[in-house]
Amino acid sequence: MKEIIGTLKPYVPEEPAESVKQRLGVERLVRLSANENPYGTSSKVREAVIEYVANHDANLYPDGNASSLRTVLAKYWNVAEDQLVIGVGLDEVISMVNKTFITPGNSIVISVPTFSEYALNGLIEGATIREVECIPETGQYDFAAMRRAVDDTTRLVWICNPNNPTGTYESVEDIRAFIKTLPSTVLVIIDEAYIDFVTSCDVPTARQLLDEFPNVFIMRTFSKAYGLANYRVGYMMSSPELANYIQTIRLPYNLNTLSQVAAEAAFKDQEFLQSTIQNNAAERDRWEQLLDELGATYYKSGANFIFMSVPNADNLADLWLSKGYQVRRGQRPNWLRVTLPTAEDGVVMRELLREYMKNL
Ligand SMILES: *Cc1c(COP(=O)(O)O)cnc(C)c1O
Repeated sequence: MKEIIGTLKPYVPEEPAESVKQRLGVERLVRLSANENPYGTSSKVREAVIEYVANHDANLYPDGNASSLRTVLAKYWNVAEDQLVIGVGLDEVISMVNKTFITPGNSIVISVPTFSEYALNGLIEGATIREVECIPETGQYDFAAMRRAVDDTTRLVWICNPNNPTGTYESVEDIRAFIKTLPSTVLVIIDEAYIDFVTSCDVPTARQLLDEFPNVFIMRTFSKAYGLANYRVGYMMSSPELANYIQTIRLPYNLNTLSQVAAEAAFKDQEFLQSTIQNNAAERDRWEQLLDELGATYYKSGANFIFMSVPNADNLADLWLSKGYQVRRGQRPNWLRVTLPTAEDGVVMRELLREYMKNL
């Protein structure tokens, strides 16, 4: 075993809903701890998957290039097909990036708190992780401090935008200004898992930076806004040169055909995506309004979740859980990350929050 493995804490996946329900004795459990889509999945996905299953055996290997999905994505993003690496969820792409570019002794710069997979996969490859605290008042990235954390050992810098768990959004201008200060040997990876939820500007994505810098990666997933977490599809875009390095280590048949079919159907249903975005934005407004009214601490969110702090937050999480609402704890003492629920569940949860604050 590699020595580092003994020191790592694996990602703890969500406990299956059935098991939580039994444990708590609740009839309905709404999981708001993994930023999944509370509005379900496009019905077009179900149709496409059923149609595929009805007409095919499973004896043949899938299309190892995900050609059809690749063509659709490349066209939409106006990139060449060889600029795309498609993975079994973005998780696999994150792992492949680390395998490809990290050797022991390299360093990786991240803002904290952020998505735990960046550090975990870097550590496995022998990297040192340089953690830069976000700005405490706003949760925004401290780009100046991140720049100071970069030196000649630094291979990767992660920008999760909007950031998980803070929910905060960094503008393309700020990201561009930051990248300009970095040596071009440093790869800047912009994880846009939640970017579809940003409604504060017209073009939130940093896609254009791909054309401006040779060292930029843009990452996307179907797991959140597209409601496709179960099918595990994520992808990244970079220069063909960098994408090709990653392709050499990708498992030949990583994506099964159901995932490819589902992702393509989901991508083509932009109507479902838009309704998810609108419902989420309206719900986000209602939560922020109440949190303002209650004087609770939270970061301004561009995502489908809110990172918030209340006194003895575990007690609030327990109260919600006793009513069947599971939120994420453990990312910062007395802070909770709440995936924004449907309007109906939101009403119930906010009433519980109001009561909780009154009884403090
Ligand atoms: C959920 C999430 C991912 C992983 O998505 P998958 O495609 O489901 O593996 C990647 N990055 C961030 C920031 C996430 O929150």
